Amino acid sequence: MKCIICKHGETKEGTTTVTLEKGSSTIVFKEVPAHICDNCGEKYIDESVTKELLKKARKIVKNGVEIDIRKYNIAA
Ligand SMILES: [Zn+2]
Repeated sequence: MKCIICKHGETKEGTTTVTLEKGSSTIVFKEVPAHICDNCGEKYIDESVTKELLKKARKIVKNGVEIDIRKYNIAA
């Protein structure tokens, strides 16, 4: 798809790192699937992936973890 930020680039399949902060917990997900603009580098993450991230984050927060760094594809 065309990038909506710079309106010039095309997005390509790639991965990115997403940091979520919930209360006193910080959760870092690596290798999150995303569409990345080849011009400005803007990242687009699918809604289904975002939902999955929030679901995983909730589980981690429930366990009382303060800092957690993990790969997206590894089950929480
Ligand atoms: Zn762009």
